[in-house]
Amino acid sequence: MSPLVDPFARPISYLRVSVTDRCDFRCTYCMAEHMQFLPKKDLLTLEELDRLCSRFIALGVEKLRITGGEPLVRKGIMTFFRAMSRHLVNGALKELTLTTNGSQLARFAGELADCGVRRVNVSLDTLNPEKFAQITRWGRLDQVQDGIRAATAAGLSVKINAVALKGFNEDELFPLLDWCAGEGHDLTFIEVMPMGEMGEEMRLDQYWPLKDVRARLAERFTLTELSERTGGPARYVRITETGQKVGFITPLTHNFCESCNRVRVTCTGELYMCLGQEDMADLRAPLRTSTDDGLLDDSIRAAIARKPKGHDFDYSRQKVAGQMSRHMSHTGG
Ligand code: SAM
Ligand code: SF4
Repeated sequence: MSPLVDPFARPISYLRVSVTDRCDFRCTYCMAEHMQFLPKKDLLTLEELDRLCSRFIALGVEKLRITGGEPLVRKGIMTFFRAMSRHLVNGALKELTLTTNGSQLARFAGELADCGVRRVNVSLDTLNPEKFAQITRWGRLDQVQDGIRAATAAGLSVKINAVALKGFNEDELFPLLDWCAGEGHDLTFIEVMPMGEMGEEMRLDQYWPLKDVRARLAERFTLTELSERTGGPARYVRITETGQKVGFITPLTHNFCESCNRVRVTCTGELYMCLGQEDMADLRAPLRTSTDDGLLDDSIRAAIARKPKGHDFDYSRQKVAGQMSRHMSHTGG
């Protein structure tokens, strides 16, 4: 079976799947406090998620990242991780991983490790309990820290993702770095993206360009650019003084699309070929119409054949261009 390659000769080897739009937090840059969630019948069932991911793996996907919403609040989600682990065992899948807010890790870390998960990304924007409660609205920092400790104890390596927010965690750049160094976690900063409806003014107020974060780091440390790329948007530097690797996900100040190897599926089975474009393909219909995988494969191939060259996010003219109306929790961050 020929693998998936898009019109710009980029092989599609990385799939990110959102397994729920729900979450136990309400991070201010991600969700409104009172979200209208989807009716259950609209979500792919765990069996449909299994079938869908398995088809992508058969078509050449080697890395699968589970996200949401908060993936670990989806009922029965360990059944799905257990099912995906069969693809690790037979070697078709090289990596099974997830992005989580960490709130449920204390409960699930051992089982995840058992399913072959080796690494987990935990989103954490501040180490201050009050600020944590403020930015997540509903979260508790100690619960997340317990989760991170449980993950480490289970043998998972933890990467911390922090959204860089002007006026919010600017003063925590070095404390976050020190804490990650002490705990042995890699750290990646993310630029806030124009996802979901939020006042334009608020977005621009929040936006702390990572080139400024980097410049701040360089005032104190020697940074060496690393050539390593994961096929994703992150660029990495090594801090000579601490040996730490720090990542920057800069969709707005850098265009990273040329090496894009990924596509995303929402919890309702919409395949987005680009995080920053509206075009998508409905995979739930072929999943539900036919038990034969032919229709599903055809839909996947037809969608990949129109994967766009890149996104159009741009804040450079002091306005939010390329704004997407869907929330990050919908597409899966
Ligand atoms: N709930 C999980 C979590 O928080 O890690 C997984 C889903 S969350 C949508 C994935 C990532 O997207 C998180 O690291 C979060 O900080 C990030 N995110 C959410 N909204 C964002 C935005 N508007 N701009 C940049 N990153 C965002
Ligand atoms: Fe939930 Fe993650 Fe969005 Fe925060 S960023 S509200 S934890 S989905």
